Amino acid sequence: MNDYMIGASISPLSGQRNLEAQSIPGHADFSMAPLTLAWEVTRACPLRCVHCRAEAQPNRHGSELSTEEGFALINDVAQMGTKVFVITGGDPLARPDIYSLLMKSVATGMHVGFSPSVTGRLRGDALERAAEIGVGTIHISLDGAGPLTHDRFRGVSGHFERTMLAIRQAAELTPRLQVATTVSRHNIGELDAIAGLLEDLADSWTLFFLVATGRANANDMLSPSEEESILQWLASTEFPFQVRTVEAPHYRRVRSQMGMHVTPGVTDGNGFCFISHIGEVQPSGFLPVTAGNVRVKPASFWYRHSELFNSLRQPTQFGEPCGSCKFATICGGSRARAWSATGNPLAGDPTCAFGLKSATSHP
Ligand code: SF4
Repeated sequence: MNDYMIGASISPLSGQRNLEAQSIPGHADFSMAPLTLAWEVTRACPLRCVHCRAEAQPNRHGSELSTEEGFALINDVAQMGTKVFVITGGDPLARPDIYSLLMKSVATGMHVGFSPSVTGRLRGDALERAAEIGVGTIHISLDGAGPLTHDRFRGVSGHFERTMLAIRQAAELTPRLQVATTVSRHNIGELDAIAGLLEDLADSWTLFFLVATGRANANDMLSPSEEESILQWLASTEFPFQVRTVEAPHYRRVRSQMGMHVTPGVTDGNGFCFISHIGEVQPSGFLPVTAGNVRVKPASFWYRHSELFNSLRQPTQFGEPCGSCKFATICGGSRARAWSATGNPLAGDPTCAFGLKSATSHP
């Protein structure tokens, strides 16, 4: 799940999760409201993606937030000052009230992102309806440069072709098109080719660096040196679309080391907030640690006042090597990866090549 773009001003789209590829000029205080909040409206999805964060299930959960609870959530999120609201899943189209939820969200004035799964429900006019309602960004996932890799990820034969068809259809519509790729051992050699497929189609490309949560396997994560190579390639390549990373905030450190001007961005709990299908308020979909539930108090309360969220907004207090790192305030490490590796979301990020090198040189 993820997210969130770049440059001298904040475009509405720049709210996608973890604006790690870009900085956020003049907008580094996220103590009162996240830049982006994502609501997982359901975990129901017919796909069986090998890396699924949500461990999606075929059927809807009996305790999903109701339509009325969803409306209250949307009002609260807008009133606290959130700029970008993302409706994700599972497959959001599994909810019969999805268009009502989208209309309510758009009516608040927030920039609305919509992240449908490429399933049979997406055939027909689903994308057109979302565009007519006023959705600002459509998110579609592409995890390989061809059927061999992508279909294996998604667990469905023929899914690559259906995904490329959905991408081409979305590119024809008014909303911006964000294509997301989960980076893992399975597709590390195909990233350049995936980028080539998106030329003239996508407005942005978001690379989600795998976190071992949900169905994702730690063995599929890249090594710190492999990730470093990819981040350097991203930072040194001219792409015809915006590029962002999720759960790899050290992309900002890499860009800073390459002489680019970089300021703090959005990270888990610090500019980003996630609401689970049953109303749990969490720092991100990859960091399923719960501050509270919207059925008890509004999301704005947990985001502003919970110890969990407040501690995630103090990067210099994180464990080593991140806490004392000179890049702590522009990076801070992936909180989800720290949690995945240690059980502590405030621990140091063990997947940063720079941090590992620093620890070795300063015993
Ligand atoms: S050590 Fe931590 S804060 Fe420093 S660059 Fe690496 S991940 Fe970022």
